[in-house]
Amino acid sequence: MDPTKTPPLLLAEGLTKRFGANEVLKGVSVCARQGDVISMIGSSGSGKSTFLRCLNLLEAPNAGSITVDGEALDLVPGRDGALKARDAAQLQRLRTQVSMVFQHFNLWAHMTALQNVMEAPVQVLGLAKAEARDRAEHYLQRVGVAHRKDAYPAHLSGGEQQRVAIARALAMEPKVMLFDEPTSALDPELVGEVLRVMRSVAEEGRTMIVVTHEMGFAREVSNHVVFLHQGRLEEEGPPAQVLTQPRSERLRAFLSNSL
Ligand code: ADP
Ligand code: MG
Repeated sequence: MDPTKTPPLLLAEGLTKRFGANEVLKGVSVCARQGDVISMIGSSGSGKSTFLRCLNLLEAPNAGSITVDGEALDLVPGRDGALKARDAAQLQRLRTQVSMVFQHFNLWAHMTALQNVMEAPVQVLGLAKAEARDRAEHYLQRVGVAHRKDAYPAHLSGGEQQRVAIARALAMEPKVMLFDEPTSALDPELVGEVLRVMRSVAEEGRTMIVVTHEMGFAREVSNHVVFLHQGRLEEEGPPAQVLTQPRSERLRAFLSNSL
């Protein structure tokens, strides 16, 4: 191992996933160290969402291993052959350490912005309400929606909803944040406010894996880009190389279609 590098915070090796006969991940590995911002690109259907979901076991991989901050997840095959966490407490710990921001925000509609952000710190981390409230207000402020804290999701713009969802992920103070096309569901004029928040979160040194079609973000904010093609990691490297001097013909074709 390179002694100049810190140990991996999130290491996934050889993740495989089948839906019936359809093998959508064919052994994908990724390594994120402290402060890495990894952009994951690839055509629709290439397995990007499935890969992210496998990382925190929202989806059960069929093979592979996942290690978070040196702790290997203890995975055992379930009846359907897919891997499950043996230890529910360990799975819970993983989910607090690896938080996810979804394309469609997934806020709870019956809770205000503040309640959305407080919920997991109270229910999962066991924080006292007052402490969770302070923490939630801090992170709502951080993403610029503190003035909307008492609004319900239906009364927030898409950009505000996604910023609340980012605050909710931050409030878990996770080791790694996963983003699955966080701006794809937004009206074009709302994309910028969410990308700005993500950029500032990245600049704090947070470790992020971001599935995105925003090539500007991939180029300017991430330090590593991964290209998935039909369930395989086709090419990876620093953005300057992957995005401007792609080696693979498939990546070249993907990039020319993305401009
Ligand atoms: P991407 O995020 O890159 O667009 P996905 O990971 O969503 O790709 O999907 C990869 C492939 O897996 C697609 O062919 C999709 O139809 C299939 N797939 C994803 N989720 C499921 C599911 N729950 N059941 C069956 N097939 C699925
Ligand atoms: Mg997807």
